[in-house]
Amino acid sequence: MVAMFEKSPPVPLEEFVRIDYRDLMDFVTEVFIRLGASREDAGIVADVLVTADLCGISSHGVQRLKSYYYEKVKSGVIKVDAKLETICEGPSYALLDANHGLGHPAAYKAMKLAIEKARETGIAIVCVRNSSHYGIAGYYALMAAREDMIGISMTNTMPYVAHTGAVGRTIGTNPIAFSAPALSEPPFLLDMATSVVPIGKIQMAVRLGKKIPLGWGIDSEGNLTDDPVKIVENGALLPLGGLGELLGGHKGYGLSLMVDILCGVLSGSGFGGFIERNTIGHTMMAIDISKFMPVEEFKQRMEKLKNYLKNSRVHPEIGKIWIHGEKSYLTMQTRKKIGVPVHKTVMKEMEEIAEELGIEVEWLK
Ligand code: NDP
Repeated sequence: MVAMFEKSPPVPLEEFVRIDYRDLMDFVTEVFIRLGASREDAGIVADVLVTADLCGISSHGVQRLKSYYYEKVKSGVIKVDAKLETICEGPSYALLDANHGLGHPAAYKAMKLAIEKARETGIAIVCVRNSSHYGIAGYYALMAAREDMIGISMTNTMPYVAHTGAVGRTIGTNPIAFSAPALSEPPFLLDMATSVVPIGKIQMAVRLGKKIPLGWGIDSEGNLTDDPVKIVENGALLPLGGLGELLGGHKGYGLSLMVDILCGVLSGSGFGGFIERNTIGHTMMAIDISKFMPVEEFKQRMEKLKNYLKNSRVHPEIGKIWIHGEKSYLTMQTRKKIGVPVHKTVMKEMEEIAEELGIEVEWLK
């Protein structure tokens, strides 16, 4: 069987410790409260980060707590107590300014607002400007699906990707998430970077001292490389589809720009290379299914689509057909029972944070 979608470098299990997700959630919440966030905002950040770990997207989970969020908040780059401000608003749209605050609460509140508005108007779009990294795009799209709506969530990012034909970092990994409910669990959830992989997967490989597959990124001269350090230091990721046009790199490049236009250009935030860490933009959209047809009918139609895909002839070398959102859902069910695997270096970083903030944590000792 070929590991067609193997995207994470294999790591020895003994390098991980399993932690109950509720303990992890309480700890992350407490960290952000001690850093000055409101209880509500701290809870949202913790939920998004730990959900990423539960779903198996460890590149966007607690491994970023110290190296990214904690350091940025401490140095004042992310203003933990910034107020989310409404710049303009109509029945089916709004523009919010996060004022350089945490990205997760800003995106969460933007999607909540989009859902509320869509209930009245059928469809709504809410953009956020001057925000910071919001974690997994899928978290917010799924919020709408849980309300029987179609949800779309996007964010732009710092430039880590070389657009087709360029050498060096010019555009973001700009993820897109799209979710729709079905009769059976889980909802459809496409959640993807518009680059071959997100930068978090390269950082994980560096942290673990692993090589990466050829095709994820290029070095400073534009050569394909399997050394993640060369990408992190002064190389670049490649757009979805890879180098050049042969396998569709120009399409990933175009999708990334679509996200940049909606999240950056339209919102008044940074875009392309004119983006700083806390001038990131997000865009949330919600579509109320009930305005188009009865929700039950939509869900039955989704089920028909899922069954059709599942019952297709299986490629002998791949062995199984998946639908977007299934693997992360199953991983979540398992990890809720047996705990979230946290790498020992991440445990050490959390220990350091606990010590600095004076948080007593039994399982970190
Ligand atoms: P993946 O390539 O891991 O997965 C992309 C999508 O494909 C997911 O919806 C996944 O669902 C689905 N999928 C995986 N395998 C199959 C299969 N065989 N058949 C059908 N569907 C499949 O995602 P990325 O590595 O591109 O992104 C990982 C995360 O990083 C995302 O959550 C994204 O939002 C986040 N990100 C965040 C950024 C930020 O700045 N905030 C920037 C870039 C990325 P499932 O997971 O259920 O398998």
